[in-house]
Amino acid sequence: MKYFEIALPINVTKLYIYKNKAEISPGCRVLVSFNNTFHTGIIWEETQDIDENIKYKEILEIIDDKPKISSELLKLALWISKYYQCSLGQSLSAMLPSAFNIQLQRKVRLNNNNSSNFENETAQKILKELNNDWLDINKLKEKLKAKTSEFNSALEDLENNEIVEIQRVFDEKIKQKIANFVKLLPIETIPKLTSKQSEAYEYMKGISNDFPLAKIAAKYSYSIVKTLRAKGLLIIEPREVKNIYFTFPQKRIQKSIKLTSEQQNAISSVNEVIKKDKFHTFLLFGITGSGKTEVYIETIKSVLKKKKTALMLVPEIALTPQMVDRFFNAFGEDIAILHSHLNDRQRWEQWNKIKSGKSKIVIGARSAIFAPLDNLGIIIVDEEHETTYKQENTPRYNGRDLSILRAKMNNAVVILGSATPSLESWNNVKTGKFTQLLLSQRPLSYELPTVKIVDMKQEKDPKLLLSENLKQKIEEKLEYKQQIILLQNRRGHSSFIQCISCGKLFECPNCDISLKYHSSSQELICHYCGSKTHMPRKCPECGSYMFSFGASGTQDIEKQLKILFPNARILRMDSDSAGKKDSYDSMFTRMREGSVDILLGTQMIAKGLDFENVTLVGVISADIGLNVPDFRAAERTFQLLTQVAGRSGRGEKPGEVIIQTYNPEHYSITTALKQDFVSFAKMELDMRQHLKYPPEFKLARFVFSHKNEKYLKDQINKNTKIINELKVIFKPEQLSILGPIETPIARMQNNYRFHLILKADSVNTISSAVNYVKKNIKIGSTIKQLIDIDPYSLM
Ligand code: ADP
Ligand code: ZN
Ligand code: ZN
Repeated sequence: MKYFEIALPINVTKLYIYKNKAEISPGCRVLVSFNNTFHTGIIWEETQDIDENIKYKEILEIIDDKPKISSELLKLALWISKYYQCSLGQSLSAMLPSAFNIQLQRKVRLNNNNSSNFENETAQKILKELNNDWLDINKLKEKLKAKTSEFNSALEDLENNEIVEIQRVFDEKIKQKIANFVKLLPIETIPKLTSKQSEAYEYMKGISNDFPLAKIAAKYSYSIVKTLRAKGLLIIEPREVKNIYFTFPQKRIQKSIKLTSEQQNAISSVNEVIKKDKFHTFLLFGITGSGKTEVYIETIKSVLKKKKTALMLVPEIALTPQMVDRFFNAFGEDIAILHSHLNDRQRWEQWNKIKSGKSKIVIGARSAIFAPLDNLGIIIVDEEHETTYKQENTPRYNGRDLSILRAKMNNAVVILGSATPSLESWNNVKTGKFTQLLLSQRPLSYELPTVKIVDMKQEKDPKLLLSENLKQKIEEKLEYKQQIILLQNRRGHSSFIQCISCGKLFECPNCDISLKYHSSSQELICHYCGSKTHMPRKCPECGSYMFSFGASGTQDIEKQLKILFPNARILRMDSDSAGKKDSYDSMFTRMREGSVDILLGTQMIAKGLDFENVTLVGVISADIGLNVPDFRAAERTFQLLTQVAGRSGRGEKPGEVIIQTYNPEHYSITTALKQDFVSFAKMELDMRQHLKYPPEFKLARFVFSHKNEKYLKDQINKNTKIINELKVIFKPEQLSILGPIETPIARMQNNYRFHLILKADSVNTISSAVNYVKKNIKIGSTIKQLIDIDPYSLM
């Protein structure tokens, strides 16, 4: 008998030991029963360290004969579970597409008939139903109307005492899809055919020599096809069906460009390290449009030459169609793509394509960091500052940070690319951990756009959303048939609705945040929980009919634009309008072919777009992100403004940018005006240091939530002792503690929320402080508790 430690995909702190006769490698999936439920566990390792007094359970089924998770990724999972404070099973299951969960079918029958005196009542009931025929267990359970836990444990007892026999059949949820294909055979003389047969044969030849049978099923019967087969004209063969869900361009366009000297320098610095098979991290700091993608492509080529593989992370692949095109042009169809819109089957197919070694290059969003590539040579993280790299449920990892870890395990290089690097990465350049590669110019010496700030306080009519200045510029560009991008980083209509006479704010009854007004449906919608109410005609508190609508959203702006520029073709792009999968793609096509004059949208349109004819970018209100209670507000504002400004003037025509704001002196706006990241970063780093925030300091956040506010408060107050103890264990300059206090959004989906924020001087301090809290906190089991290490959201 062999014993194995197994990781279960649930929130348990340790590994559990199960036994089996077979040899099973780490990383294989197995089926086990835990607390009367079945789980797909992953073999961690074989162990000799067993306790004679414990009766270990059997592994019920071995699912894989070869590991699904490589030893390298097993190591990464261990690191994740320690650092991000989750179970090993949870981090392992994040590595496999959900299609790898298995479907289980169980049947039961009597083993031998000497079973009458079994005490347990549920077991008695079960036995009454059984005989020598196999019976489906789910149907049996339904029939007995038994509680799941009682039913399962009774059944388990019966099985352990060999009174019943259980058969388990499991199945991958997703299987290769097989269909019949028709293949026409080359033929010299056509045999005699009836007119119907001949018609069918001609029809098939018109399609192609090889096509799925389904293509003709509606027109001709299967018996005709079979007759033609009997006459030697064709064969029918079952074959795997491939889903086509990502359309690469028709053919590869290989344009030869002459790299700039900055690009060449960057590439050779990276190649130098690739040559030596060493781990190193580069920060490719290149202004928007400076040609970072060429650097990615050339360095990947060097890695492929060494027979290694490449992984490229992008913030959201649906928003980077141009990037995919360029990779296709450079590398052909060997690329695997992990798209956020893939369904389970498609994701599973891409995963297998990578695992089998067919794809040597993977492009994907955050979770692609777990792509099963062997022999990794390079990991690229494009737009490394993006918050989408942070996963907002367990395991709460950051894909960018994991890329560095994974590269280290593989002696691979990392390139983090951005025009507005995160302060974390910038700090690593300052301390010498990363090497900076600089692209300070756009190739072909296209000029950076000129940026102008409009102080909205000086406007005659502040109610108008567009300043005189911006209006005039739009008119001018429309006249020259050039395109315009307008950014308003708020969807829908105004941010909130307030009664002008009594000041009542309309807030979500579940979440304590302001409801957003959607004029098309005349509804107030909570953007957190989705709850909706009708827009009231008058204030329920005071009866007034006058409402103030706060800062405007994209839909308001669209309305005004239609009035001001009735002949302009306007396209609005935000998460309301982009509900449909392909609307981003269609926006893209329409912009490219010039059938849109003004593209208006939220941050969705601020990144990555490269249209030569866009010569004006307008930011309707730069203040929207600035007033959020979050220490990253200034950083996010700077990033957004710089990114969107970079959409202007990407061709030969010079670009212009107009930023409207009520805070023209704010440093994130004045530095964005000059696209001066270095000055911004200097001021921001000083401030973060002063307030003990990242990157110098490490953050961890506990969130506690419960339906009953008083109970939650009482339970938390019982633990104040822990806070005092932390203050004794750690010196004030090592650890500062905020809270526990209400979160800024005090209630979400009907749960009251409190958080505790720890700020520490090092990774060691933060992890021992977090562990101390975890170990000592005593809190009701109905209270939901989550731990977020390096949190992005503090709301
Ligand atoms: P970034 O990712 O830095 O914003 P891109 O890689 O998208 O910039 O490059 C911007 C544009 O410049 C693209 O259209 C690209 O084809 C072009 N480009 C890049 N490098 C060169 C070069 N050396 N010579 C000419 N054009 C280039
Ligand atoms: Zn009122
Ligand atoms: Zn809500």
